[in-house]
Amino acid sequence: MKFGTKAVHAGVEPDPSTGAIMTPIYQTSTYVQESPAKHKGYAYARGANPTRNSLQKSIAALENGKHGICFSSGMGATDAVIKLLNPGDEVITSNDLYGGSYRMFKKVYERFGIKFHFIDLTHADNIDAYVNERTKLFWIETPSNPLMRIIDIQACVSKAKKHNILVAVDNTFASPYLQNPLDLGADIVMHSVTKYLGGHSDVIMGALITNNDKLHQDLAFIANSCGAVPGPQDSFLVLRGIKSLHLRMERHCHNGKVIANYLREHKKIGNVYWPGFADHPNHDIAKKQMRDFGGMLSFTLKNDTLENATKLMESMELFSLAESLGGVESLINHPASMTHASIPREERIKNGLSDSLIRLSIGVEDAEDLIADLEQALAKV
Ligand SMILES: *Cc1c(COP(=O)(O)O)cnc(C)c1O
Repeated sequence: MKFGTKAVHAGVEPDPSTGAIMTPIYQTSTYVQESPAKHKGYAYARGANPTRNSLQKSIAALENGKHGICFSSGMGATDAVIKLLNPGDEVITSNDLYGGSYRMFKKVYERFGIKFHFIDLTHADNIDAYVNERTKLFWIETPSNPLMRIIDIQACVSKAKKHNILVAVDNTFASPYLQNPLDLGADIVMHSVTKYLGGHSDVIMGALITNNDKLHQDLAFIANSCGAVPGPQDSFLVLRGIKSLHLRMERHCHNGKVIANYLREHKKIGNVYWPGFADHPNHDIAKKQMRDFGGMLSFTLKNDTLENATKLMESMELFSLAESLGGVESLINHPASMTHASIPREERIKNGLSDSLIRLSIGVEDAEDLIADLEQALAKV
């Protein structure tokens, strides 16, 4: 089955008791049992809920995976993966990472004796110097947030396989429409469902997808034991959002390309970070592992000051100044003070995330209107 058909149909079927074409919102905490421990597969809703089950099947299908597990947020999903580890274990991850992932690794899990190496993974060979017998996980985010760096998933997987190391990929920026890490050999895919999968800026949710039965069992055990599960109303909203994922992504990609090229030609713009440019350092890898280049990009102003960047962001009319991404409406964000404020300044600057960097999540509006908005705001800086 092809992607659009799966987006509309996978995981959902008419409700057996009424024929309702849309999966009902099973707003219940528990299920009545016929006799002790004899039930219809549902005992208590932290463990399982039919609306959530439907969504888990849908998301698994989109990632060409066997199993999906949904969480109450993207961070809840990431947390479950790290809980597979033990004190003394080591993780290799990138130095250009979602700020919340950096914060969890550094401020929560280092206290539990897990060691994280934040390195430049845009050259996969950099991994070699950090692998040892305690390395248990590669945590890969590509394209990266906010600098749109690209990591070669297959190259990392082939290094991991030699040492029995798990590979988890945060696929939030690409969405399953653009990139399927399980097909490239990754063990686990993570999504902040909050972003493109939900697509309408109205839900916080996360998901993990795997083909490995044992990993699924372990992660489902953690989900049920630790309890970061989403509610049925949110599951319903995401099921609804997913039905148009392919249509939205086509438009996000189209608008992203038009705006990346517009910005690049503009005399007031410094650098534009977008993996679709032929001279992006890992453009060839992006072309190999992604179907298109998405609707996320970031840039700096030629007059590269925080005052100028602030002036631009305050002057936007159609773009809303907000954290998050992947919704139908266009957003503008200042990583240094918003999404990535939890990373110490020296760390940020060292990794190329300057004070004036601006990130755009390009929505599905008409590109002409988005450009007109950028044009009027740029005229003011
Ligand atoms: C938003 C985001 C997360 C965290 O997800 P939440 O749903 O906000 O908890 C993780 N990774 C990336 C790349 C994100 O953009």
